Amino acid sequence: MTPGKMLPTRRRALQLLGGGVASGLLDARDVWGFPEKPLLQDEVRPKVAFPDGAIIRTVLGDVDPSMLSHGATLFHEHLSLSDPLPAWVDPPENGRPLGSFTADLDLMVDELNATAQDGVSCIVSGGTRDLGQNAGGLRMLAERTDVHIVVASGLWTQPRYPPDIPDKTEEEIAADFIRDASSERWGAIGEIGTSLVMHPDERKVLRAACKVHLRTGLPLFTHTPHEGCRQCALEQLDVIESMGVNPRLICIGHLADITGDPSAELHKELAARGAFLGFDTVGHQITQGDALKVEMVVAVIEAGYEDHVLLSADFAREEELKANGGAGYSSVPAIFVPKLRYAGVPDHVISKILIDNPRRFLAFTPKEG
Ligand SMILES: [Zn+2]
Repeated sequence: MTPGKMLPTRRRALQLLGGGVASGLLDARDVWGFPEKPLLQDEVRPKVAFPDGAIIRTVLGDVDPSMLSHGATLFHEHLSLSDPLPAWVDPPENGRPLGSFTADLDLMVDELNATAQDGVSCIVSGGTRDLGQNAGGLRMLAERTDVHIVVASGLWTQPRYPPDIPDKTEEEIAADFIRDASSERWGAIGEIGTSLVMHPDERKVLRAACKVHLRTGLPLFTHTPHEGCRQCALEQLDVIESMGVNPRLICIGHLADITGDPSAELHKELAARGAFLGFDTVGHQITQGDALKVEMVVAVIEAGYEDHVLLSADFAREEELKANGGAGYSSVPAIFVPKLRYAGVPDHVISKILIDNPRRFLAFTPKEG
């Protein structure tokens, strides 16, 4: 195990407070917890127990999960996308490919360092090869930022797969993943996606991802269609369970996009089976509005499944960067969390969801691939 990077220092905090920062984000940070000023003191916030030898694998090193106990971890963002667009993918007719701003390292350093000041300690980049994630670029970014970066990868959805995937076996895809997980220092597998109708190749890739999870211990998170698809989520979990994977070690993604289910019946069913629930499109302009997303999160918490909730933003929109007047990668703490608080979610539950749940999801005891 190698020591990870230091969290934002007291000196940085003092600089910030003394610098008269005029951002409205200061309020959000003050309310829900800044790294130097945890929301709840350690003596009143229950300690999270991790298995012996459990680590969180960042791109720069394996860190003890306790190192991420004073700030939020965002489990599904996009810190590298279309960098470059994969050769087999047609570029969009108008404009730049989604997320191509991530290739601007100086811009990304500023965005992430500002996000650290909003109380974020760790971000998982859920890229994948077919989305054009550049693992080398993520390493360079991590070396220059205050935020811990976890690389997640794999393959996204069938329309974007490399042309050789139809001819590869499940076992060959698993071997490819294990090779890349080692060379690129993956700390998770994801986002592994399926379409509205699960394509046979998507089933093959998801099964391969489960094999990699079983062999390496790496946590796994999925993508369900942004249209909102209850059946897709259930079918993914069926496949995952059929492979002998413990649902408590995986996360079903994009569940904030589920429509017509304000009491979150789907989410409760998935949580009852053990899975983490990825509310990972919150706090910015994507899919449906936050009011519905808050309603579903609250319904899950009221049903007693708060330990299953994970928040993130799936952020990839250039127009919402901090540089462009948006919340950037801070949309969870700056935009969504105040809405949860307004809806009555207590502070200790918010801390658990932001800080403890993602550490429990990401922490694993490495096994030989
Ligand atoms: Zn996705």
